Amino acid sequence: MESLGCNKNLIDSEMMLYLMKKEYEYMEDPREAEIIIVNTCAFIDDAKEEAIDTILTCAEYKTVGKCKKLVVAGCLSQRYGSKLKKEIPEIDILLGTGDFTEILERLKNKHNNKFQLFGKPDYNYPSPGKRSLLTPSYSAYLKVAEGCNNHCSYCVIPQLRGAFRSRPPETILEEAEILTGQGVKEIILTAQDTSLYGNDLSDSLDLSRLLTMLAETVNVDWLRFLYFYPTRINDSLLETMSKYSNICKYLDIPIQHVNKDILESMGRQGDYETFYRTIEKIRDIIPQITLRTTLIVGYPGETEKEFHELMEFLKSTEFDWVGVFPYSPQENTLAYKLDSRPDDRVVNNRFKKILQVQSKITQKNYLRWLNKTIRVLVEGRSELNPEFYNCRAENQAPETDGIVYIKDNGAVQTGNFVNAKIYHVDGHDLMGEVSR
Ligand code: SF4
Repeated sequence: MESLGCNKNLIDSEMMLYLMKKEYEYMEDPREAEIIIVNTCAFIDDAKEEAIDTILTCAEYKTVGKCKKLVVAGCLSQRYGSKLKKEIPEIDILLGTGDFTEILERLKNKHNNKFQLFGKPDYNYPSPGKRSLLTPSYSAYLKVAEGCNNHCSYCVIPQLRGAFRSRPPETILEEAEILTGQGVKEIILTAQDTSLYGNDLSDSLDLSRLLTMLAETVNVDWLRFLYFYPTRINDSLLETMSKYSNICKYLDIPIQHVNKDILESMGRQGDYETFYRTIEKIRDIIPQITLRTTLIVGYPGETEKEFHELMEFLKSTEFDWVGVFPYSPQENTLAYKLDSRPDDRVVNNRFKKILQVQSKITQKNYLRWLNKTIRVLVEGRSELNPEFYNCRAENQAPETDGIVYIKDNGAVQTGNFVNAKIYHVDGHDLMGEVSR
């Protein structure tokens, strides 16, 4: 199994893996596998390229390995279906974002190579999602909803994942119990947009309500959630976060830009002032909060003026973590036909400038942890430096933020929490030693 793309796709891969392991033996070495599954992403050009490269690499195992069936699932097959099969005839089975749970039937079905047009991806998450985790045993993503209704003008995800549909809270609680029963200590709630959770099920249900239910009933150390639409931050969410010690004081709020006209063209809400006040409010209610955001540079219409505004915003708000993407025009999106796109060289310069400025801010914010003792989750011995263990603190989400290196004192165990006294800030990472 090659799982590409976002953590929502990873969960789909884990569900396919769970089903496959019922009837097939999992091989770590792709040369030994008779069936290879590539679960793809098709969000932006880089992701599409990575998916095609991975498919072509796996297709080679049909000659240099034991591969008999190459299965391609996920957003690339949902988006390009038959075209993909024409261009890569080595593909035997295509699964969309709505029918990947049919993988066993499709493998048995002798007509499985006949291309099947995918319907609208409106499947509902089976409850509780039986999965074979691809994350470390102590941490797991938990999907609270599928699809998206925001229809940002540059984004294809609503076409690939369908309309927003929340999972019933009882199935989420059930799955959280299963995960913690398996030893999971960190549960990361995910969706395309977690801020919409519950709206489609009942007026009294929202993410704060779900977090309260989970925090009060599930024995989990860290409850984290990602992808919260910035203009939907409200007092009840912030009060819920500050009320429960097992809810991470970590907020991922993708703003994408701050200029009003650019945001309007993106089909997104908010502006400089709104975001600025929201961040002030968040820090008032939760002073120790860690803030992450995502930005798009080089969107059509972004001149030096709008870019300067974005840089000023970053310097005045000082997010802890910022992910930045150069705009990638996608066919069949509203923004695709927009002209006045800055040229690639300009976009590249802006991309680098944001990383430079943000890197200094991240390091400056990190200084607040110096000489502090913080609780960290041990993730394993450092490959770079085996004297140390890689760990993560509450202010660090997996795969995107920095890590905490702690010296091995012989009592450190992967998957456990220890207290670490921080004695050094090293770029985007911290150095610490175990403290009682
Ligand atoms: S919120 Fe916007 S960018 Fe994110 S998945 Fe939905 S449509 Fe795409």
